[in-house]
Amino acid sequence: MRHFQTAVTSQGTFNHKARYNQRSFALISWTLTAPNIARPPYFLDIVLRNVRGLMDNYEILDFKSLNETVQDLIRQATNVRKYAYCPYSNFAVGAAILTEEDSKVYTGCNIESATFTPCICAERAAIPKAICDGYLKIKMVAVVAHQKSGFTAPCGVCRQTLSEFRSSDGDIEIYLSKPAMDKVLRTKLSKLLPLAFVSYITDNVIDNDNS
Ligand SMILES: [Zn+2]
Repeated sequence: MRHFQTAVTSQGTFNHKARYNQRSFALISWTLTAPNIARPPYFLDIVLRNVRGLMDNYEILDFKSLNETVQDLIRQATNVRKYAYCPYSNFAVGAAILTEEDSKVYTGCNIESATFTPCICAERAAIPKAICDGYLKIKMVAVVAHQKSGFTAPCGVCRQTLSEFRSSDGDIEIYLSKPAMDKVLRTKLSKLLPLAFVSYITDNVIDNDNS
């Protein structure tokens, strides 16, 4: 039996894998059997891509075709992955972020806890290090993990956290790789988190109905 699994979180595969597989197969079965709905030819493809944790509007590139800055970012994410503290999931993730100003690189790995709630993803282990050094704009992110079924993308919480620290152009380049550093998925935060929540305070929105 082929196993589909979501690739949305650094800790997302443990304990929940069976449930995700169950839901995925139920969803696929539904798309194949539901007789009363219009199904564009690409619908099943979209479902399968999202089940596998992939998104539209991405590119798969050869590692060697990337420039030195991106290659170095992926290498550093791969290197820090060795220090992942993941005794419960055994799913190690490494992340590296590149700041817009000064082009500084900060790395992080996932850190788990016996009580699960305090678990932190690799991306959110790296981001505070940059913030504490005074860097508030992130230009690029690399995430490295090993999943047979596809690339490991930042979870929803990390996407929203990254959104807080977008670069001056309002976006962040995202590179997903496996430790082998062969193929790399390139995308952008705006593709992974469309319609991101923006604070009503910083957006200066005035709601006349509630004023
Ligand atoms: Zn995350």
